[in-house]
Amino acid sequence: MRPGPARGIRVGVIPMGEETRLAAKVIAAHVEGFMHLESMVLDPLPRPDFALDPQRLQYDAGCVIEDLESRPRGRCDKVVGVTAVDLFVPVFSHVFGEARLGGRAALVSLHRLGEAEEGRRPPPARVLERAAKVALHELGHLFSLTHCSDPGCLMHFTGDVAGLDATALLFCRYCREFLAADGCGQRSEAGLV
Ligand SMILES: [Zn+2]
Ligand SMILES: [Zn+2]
Repeated sequence: MRPGPARGIRVGVIPMGEETRLAAKVIAAHVEGFMHLESMVLDPLPRPDFALDPQRLQYDAGCVIEDLESRPRGRCDKVVGVTAVDLFVPVFSHVFGEARLGGRAALVSLHRLGEAEEGRRPPPARVLERAAKVALHELGHLFSLTHCSDPGCLMHFTGDVAGLDATALLFCRYCREFLAADGCGQRSEAGLV
């Protein structure tokens, strides 16, 4: 039996720039389908130009998250911003996404997910699937999950798109149990779904 949304936890997905609207819809659908949480696309925000680092010519992910966290909570318990700009955190050259453990706002960047590989651009469906995987991983952090040692789990850390493509759209049993305790996913007689 397919479970409905759990315990009223709501996740808002915020497109930050026109070019991220489709990805935001796809992410919201994956949050509903894989985490069994009610999810909705919220009003768009502009590109986060305030976070541009003039030396690196990249955008400071922490700065964007702080801005998202400072906004009114509205109806959503957690929010995921989707941007097309290139994000960094000080210790990494770039990041696909960012979230603070147990925080309210996460961020996904499409910038590196659609880069050409061996001269070819990846098909749009693959880019969207990667964005969904990054979003679910970052949401996992918002629900206080840390990185997982299981390479087949969405919470396994990966720094490149090949690693993302190799990851299934699944949380491992341990991470599913952890999420279920936080109201994501539902238990059934057959175990967790
Ligand atoms: Zn992570
Ligand atoms: Zn796991």
